[in-house]
Order: sequence, then structure tokens, then C-alpha cells
Amino acid sequence: MNARPYLIATRNPGKLRELRDIFAQHHVEITDLNEVGVPETDDEESIESWETFEENALAKAQYFHGRTGLPTFADDSGLMVDALGGKPGVRSKRLSGRTDLTGRSLDAANNATLIGQLRRLSALPAAAEFVCAAAFADGDVALVRTGSTAGEIIQQPRGFDGFGYDSHFVSKELQQTFGEASEGAKLRIGHRGRAFRALLDAMEKELPTSLPQRGRSD
Ligand code: IMP
Repeated sequence: MNARPYLIATRNPGKLRELRDIFAQHHVEITDLNEVGVPETDDEESIESWETFEENALAKAQYFHGRTGLPTFADDSGLMVDALGGKPGVRSKRLSGRTDLTGRSLDAANNATLIGQLRRLSALPAAAEFVCAAAFADGDVALVRTGSTAGEIIQQPRGFDGFGYDSHFVSKELQQTFGEASEGAKLRIGHRGRAFRALLDAMEKELPTSLPQRGRSD
């Protein structure tokens, strides 16, 4: 039995909701930055300044492990659009350049920028994929795995659930936008669910003592 709780290091409520569901499905008890009382600091924005999702996810997990001493999970994710040469990619959160906005307002500004760029290229609908790197850090231990999911970006948003680019992304596998899909469906075929399931599987094989409470429900 691990006496320390596992920390999910994200300030994004949409991600946190999905991650709580994933870990609940795997019977892994977790806590988050608010519950632990980790105040937001200015240097957090500069953690994710690497060029790959994997490096950013690991940097985030190691940074918050350093601040809390807890075994820590983090992710870095984003949208890669073929017509934009794979952009916005690791810059997905900052596509609009609006550093003054957060939450839903930032999502709206990012979506407007994305659709504007694709309209100017006459590239809509546009083939795209969501990518997520899921990382774990605890002391000297560090592990990262990725997951992705294919779809296309459409001009008119559909559905009100989800966050970020969800309502403009039609999943190839679901034939619905992630804003219309149920949370269970998005977790099953989505980039974040795939990345974290791969990470938990790898931890079970490579770090068997790191996840003592794990027991699959499926
Ligand atoms: P970061 O991982 O915190 O750097 O943020 C990634 C950004 O990519 C988010 O702010 C969203 O704009 C976008 N993104 C990542 N995953 C998703 C998703 O599951 N749905 C919609 N947008 C996402």
C-alpha cells in the first residue's frame, strides 16, 4: 500500500475531469493541485517550453513532483492539423496568442484563430489528430507514453460538452464531435484515455511497485 496519494498535475478542469474518470476506472486513488494546496505560480507557464509532447509532459510531472514530493502524473496534449503542417501541436493552448484569457474565453479565441487560418487556406474540413503524452515522475523514476486519435476539423462547432477544440473536432471513430460525444466514448477512443492506459500498462510491467493499488475494472 502506497501511503502517498498520486497527484494529477493539471490546472485545466476539462482535463482533470477526464483524468479523474480514467484513474477511477483503474481504481487508482488520486488527488489534484487544489486539494493538495499547490498555489499557481508565474514560472508554471515556462515548464512546457519544449518541442515535443513527451518532453513537456515529463517536465510538468517532474516539476510538480519537485514541488510536492508526491508521485505525479501529468500530460501534454494538442491538436495536429495536416494542412497546417502539424500545427498548432505543442502550441495548441497558446494558438490565439491571448495570454490575457483563460478557460472558455481562451478556448473560444483559439477556435476562432484555428478556423480563421483554415478558412484562409480553403482547407475546411481539415484532417487532424489529437495527441497526448502521459507522464509519471517519482524521484528518479520517469515514464512517458503517447496516445492519439484521428478526425477532422469542421467550421461550425457541434455540441457543448468538452473543452478546448472539442466541438470543432469530428472523431473518425465516433462520427461525432468530441463536444457531442459522451464522456465515456471520448475516454474510450480519445488521445488522453489511450495515453494514460498505455502509461498505466507500462507502469505495471516496468515499475510494478509504483502502482500497488491498481486493479482493473474491465
Ligand atoms: P496543454 O496540454 O495544457 O499544453 O494544453 C493543450 C491544449 O490543447 C488545450 O488547451 C486545448 O486547447 C487543446 N487540447 C488538448 N486536449 C484536448 C482535448 O481533449 N479536447 C480539446 N482540446 C484539447
